[in-house]
Amino acid sequence: MLGRAENRFASPLKRLKKVLEIGIGQSKIFREPAAGLMHALIFWGFLVLITAVTEAIIQGFYSNFSLGMFGGISKIFFISQDVFGLLVILSVIYALFRRYVLHPKRLQGDGSTNADATFILCMIMGVMLTMFGVNAVKTAIHPDYATYYSAHFISSKLSVLFKGNEITFYNIFWWAHISIVLLFMNYLPYSKHFHIVTSLPNVYLSKLGPQTLDTEEIDFEKENVFLGSGDIEQLTWKEIFDGYACTECGRCTASCPANLTGKPLSPRKIIMNIRERTSEKAPLMAANKNIPEEIEQKKLVSEYYITDDELWACTSCMACVKECPVNIEHVNPIVDMRRFLVQSESRFPDELMTVFGNMENNGAPWAYPQSDRLKWTENLDITVPVASEKNNFDVLYWVGCAGAFDARYQNVSRSVAQLLDKAKVNYAVLGKEEKCNGDSARRLGNEFLAQTLIKENVETMKKYNFKKILVSCPHCMQTIGNEYKAFGGDYEVVHHSEFISELVNEKKIEIEETKKIDTKITYHDSCYLGRYNNIYEEPRDLLKQVNNGDIIEMERSKDKGLCCGAGGGRMWMEEKIGKKINIERTEEALRTNADVISTACPFCMTMMTDGVKEKGRSEDVKVKDFAELILESSK
Ligand code: SF4
Ligand code: SF4
Repeated sequence: MLGRAENRFASPLKRLKKVLEIGIGQSKIFREPAAGLMHALIFWGFLVLITAVTEAIIQGFYSNFSLGMFGGISKIFFISQDVFGLLVILSVIYALFRRYVLHPKRLQGDGSTNADATFILCMIMGVMLTMFGVNAVKTAIHPDYATYYSAHFISSKLSVLFKGNEITFYNIFWWAHISIVLLFMNYLPYSKHFHIVTSLPNVYLSKLGPQTLDTEEIDFEKENVFLGSGDIEQLTWKEIFDGYACTECGRCTASCPANLTGKPLSPRKIIMNIRERTSEKAPLMAANKNIPEEIEQKKLVSEYYITDDELWACTSCMACVKECPVNIEHVNPIVDMRRFLVQSESRFPDELMTVFGNMENNGAPWAYPQSDRLKWTENLDITVPVASEKNNFDVLYWVGCAGAFDARYQNVSRSVAQLLDKAKVNYAVLGKEEKCNGDSARRLGNEFLAQTLIKENVETMKKYNFKKILVSCPHCMQTIGNEYKAFGGDYEVVHHSEFISELVNEKKIEIEETKKIDTKITYHDSCYLGRYNNIYEEPRDLLKQVNNGDIIEMERSKDKGLCCGAGGGRMWMEEKIGKKINIERTEEALRTNADVISTACPFCMTMMTDGVKEKGRSEDVKVKDFAELILESSK
């Protein structure tokens, strides 16, 4: 309640559906099959075994009570108690084996402790064993229900072990069972296993629809304008709540490209730090007590918790969010904290000064003037129509800064324009009126600059009537398609993979059999196209059309794909710590022995091209956008 306001209650039915799918169905847990099955069995077992715990608690007050009172139906409870009890015991044994013998990397480090997990696993084991114990001897206490108790097909077999001393053992097991249950419940709030209480609500409250950055429009005339999150009271209540839902499973960190390449960033640690700082400061705030100077100084963004290097390492690739089994959203607080660094503290890597300056003065991250935005069209055999000179057009082709200025990516813009021309699409470009979409500025924490660019672009587009926007850059797609709405720009935005796919399917672009290439192609998924906008198949389908061979998948592909290292504004920053992410990804691509690495994003193209060059493979391995390949193979 001390966090910033945020509405996470709209569309309750959609939220419930998500709880059923991700919470009760454990769908994200199964992204790792073995560990997933183990966790799911413990979770489902817990749901089923609530019946046994409830029975034991009621018996504490009314010793005559038994589920057997419900007659035949009680047999269902008793059979399921035995089945799930056994499955939970086996799962706990596997969990301990995994933790202490297999030692998965993701369960180590970042302050995550084995002791807490082991204590909880032992308690779960204790609850199960004592439940079997109670069930084995309860006929002696409640002989009237003996017919129904026979449904305990495992526990009833154990009764021979306690023959002659059933009542004594019943008392021992019952007291042990209830004591462990109560100890377990009292221990929960101090343990990562508090997620047993918080994870389902957290899934319910998680974001519906695309993963946008949540920001209100900045009105600098207002007092107390939000300048970023330096400490917990500037986080939203949901960002704080995430801290209490974390299971410390480490799936986020295990998939984080920054962490994998030796940077100090661990998304798990970010979330755990939010929880630790909240536990340290929030009780004092809630009690309206004066916060001692030494606690006040230990801000969330500081050497005590989250450092600048951690925050700047994030590529906003969304792998952490995709993997998190309880739908924690790491990227929003990371960007909120970057905003604090940039807007409140003016503390950011030196190289960003030039980038912000260029965006402010030229409307692009590069130092090219706005007047050069149409240079890519020079030397084309076709005329690229410009919106200001064309009254009616259906499709606005948003070229993007890289499409306009990057020497390599200009060829992709030219390919797209030629394909549009072949398919007789009624389109136009904004040319000199287009400005950077604001994605990089926003992810780099310069929200004021981002909103200035966004508002200027929305004003420009208001002048024209068109049905949809076509983009080549997934970052333009994400920002214009999903984040401009908050600023009055509600557009249908399609990526050129979807658009060209449609044109090929409608035979408006035809592939020439003789021009098909015979080569090995691998496809690198762009995070902003894939994880952000769920587009995985269209580029692959297009590549299959032009290639006589198959697409060779990399070890990490589709929604598990590894980032190229350029998202979140990292494109404009130096990578001084650890291995370069683009090299890690390029090595993976080269391991497929493909001759062509196909990309669908200007940032990915730059990073993979640089990677191939650095590995000395530029001669034999080409990096191409699939639009170029389609154009080369078309009639
Ligand atoms: S968004 Fe990507 S880089 Fe950033 S913390 Fe998550 S996994 Fe790591
Ligand atoms: S944030 Fe999610 S994925 Fe990461 S450790 Fe916590 S629960 Fe696991």
